[in-house]
Amino acid sequence: MTASTSSVRVAVRVRPLTETEKQNHCKNNINFVPNEPQINVGPDRSFTFDYTYTPFTGQKEVFDTCVIPLVNKYIDGYNSTILAYGQTGSGKTFSMGIGLDSAMNPVGDGIVPLFIDTLFDRLQQNQKQRSSQFEVSVSFLELYNEEIVDLLSATKKENTNLSIREDHMGTIHWSGVREEKVTNAKELFDHLKKGSIARTTASTDMNHTSSRSHAIFSVVLKQTIYGEDNDQVSALDSLPGRGKTPSNPQDTSASAKLSPTSSTKSSSSDVTPMASRKLVSKFHFVDLAGSERLKRTNAVGDRAKEGISINSGLLALGNVISALGDESRRVSHIPYRDSKLTRLLQDSLGGNSQTLMLACVSPADLNHTETLNTLKYANRAR
Ligand code: ADP
Ligand code: MG
Repeated sequence: MTASTSSVRVAVRVRPLTETEKQNHCKNNINFVPNEPQINVGPDRSFTFDYTYTPFTGQKEVFDTCVIPLVNKYIDGYNSTILAYGQTGSGKTFSMGIGLDSAMNPVGDGIVPLFIDTLFDRLQQNQKQRSSQFEVSVSFLELYNEEIVDLLSATKKENTNLSIREDHMGTIHWSGVREEKVTNAKELFDHLKKGSIARTTASTDMNHTSSRSHAIFSVVLKQTIYGEDNDQVSALDSLPGRGKTPSNPQDTSASAKLSPTSSTKSSSSDVTPMASRKLVSKFHFVDLAGSERLKRTNAVGDRAKEGISINSGLLALGNVISALGDESRRVSHIPYRDSKLTRLLQDSLGGNSQTLMLACVSPADLNHTETLNTLKYANRAR
């Protein structure tokens, strides 16, 4: 399958050498092939992906190249998922911008803060250009030891009744998870901040680190688009890729229905009813648990248990992603049910949804083995 037809894209980002790596006399292990999305690792390995980013690539450039296409589709009504994958310390949280550093900075960098700004700009533009209404809500949760923790809930007590439910349309519902409505970028940013603080606090309280948990920042967009006539509404139906699966994009009105005249476009004397269409789309930003092998962390007891269940999530995700990319398995079984992680994301991986895997790696020769593991994992998605 070529990159242009696959709904899963892969980007690799190589972070700069850290001070510690420099002090430990680590050498650079990765070279970039000019003008090709290809990297060479160590003496004899090379990989090609959809996008490659050097240690000098800035956050905005990453966003403008590999994230913007997903934002466009999301606003068109398609579910989207970005998965940051890699060993602990490789730059997942930095790239996603959901760590405390970026969440505390109101002009924060990274994928999520840039997304927040872009989303409301776009939606407000759309509202001016055509007759439409939108509603945005956010959830932020952490998956730790196959347990869901709601990062937006005020008390831990609220966290007991969280579960995953699938409706007859194939839409996944996170029952009991808080969904906060927001009307502007600042409110959405405040929830990012709140959840990031909760994540850090939880890691201290419960003696686990964020490197062992998956964090999912999820934004649901509901749009009502008023067409001036039925032609305009049905034009939406004929967009490429639409309607191949019932659940995505999630049209909540099967047929155009009559709605009150939009106040933004019509004069008060114009009483012609307009057809409307409702679209629902979700965007999941996933900061995955560290992908390092259990044996390297010398885990015993509870730590070993954590390691095993985290790996089972990453393992299941790898299997789902590779099944999606495999043309011959397209219509057959995709093993979403093998982990809570893949179950949570089920309606936003595959089908008409857009998925980006951002593989993060260290350039240091010391991390050669883990870097190869990350790139092999990412390669399965293509
Ligand atoms: P992870 O979430 O994968 O464990 P982090 O995002 O916390 O890793 O990154 C580890 C360290 O490296 C942090 O101090 C972070 O600021 C830094 N870092 C990561 N990626 C970059 C980058 N592209 N440019 C500069 N610093 C980075
Ligand atoms: Mg992290």
